[in-house]
Amino acid sequence: MRILVTNDDGIYSPGISTLANIASKFGEVRVVAPDVEQSSMGHAITASRPLFFKKSPVTFENMDAYRVNGTPADCVALGTHLWSKTDVVLSGVNMGANLGNSMWHSGTLAAAKQAVLLGIKGIALSTPAGTSEPDFETLKPFIEETLNMLLKDPEACLINVNFPPHPKGTLWTRQSVRQYDGKVVPGTDPMGRKHYWFTVVPLEQAEEGTDRWAVERDYISITPLRLDLTDERQLSKELTKHMNMKSI
Ligand code: MN
Repeated sequence: MRILVTNDDGIYSPGISTLANIASKFGEVRVVAPDVEQSSMGHAITASRPLFFKKSPVTFENMDAYRVNGTPADCVALGTHLWSKTDVVLSGVNMGANLGNSMWHSGTLAAAKQAVLLGIKGIALSTPAGTSEPDFETLKPFIEETLNMLLKDPEACLINVNFPPHPKGTLWTRQSVRQYDGKVVPGTDPMGRKHYWFTVVPLEQAEEGTDRWAVERDYISITPLRLDLTDERQLSKELTKHMNMKSI
């Protein structure tokens, strides 16, 4: 199995070396990751300047590793173009959870989405990070077990996985869709210039059965996703309302 490993934290992140090492137990691994952090870049692609694909100065055990001056989606597009017959793209392990509405902003998940756009299985993996780095040693067996299950599952196509710091089990979940505050906090830089920080604090309790609900209860959350954003319920209502438009 050919496994392309990427992330949005950049090639120097301890999360990507953890993931690449575990992935190498399941097949041939190639690492292609952004040369600098690209967190919260979403599904951006670089269309206005050329991209470079350079050997990484960071070495990974028995693996080819490359750095790209682009986004996570760029890494997947370029990486799979230059490494034909990639079977799966793994993205992470992100230092920071990607739960609920943060999926809209996530570069980690965007890499998995880009894989699926290209007809390749995509799995995003994340874990919360506070002021200290996540304890990847503790998480290693859980990451391996989860990959073992998902790589074997032919139904698993686009998957978002989040690991709590000390997992006590695994739950299949749906995406939490709470509103967040979107508050803008002003500050001043050392040169006296005004700047702003964007904050994302959820406003409501996590709904039962959702990704956030599971991780809050120390369960690994596995959410199957799809690229089709169509609101089927609304569409069928609109189609009924606008029956007459069908004749046009
Ligand atoms: Mn990140």
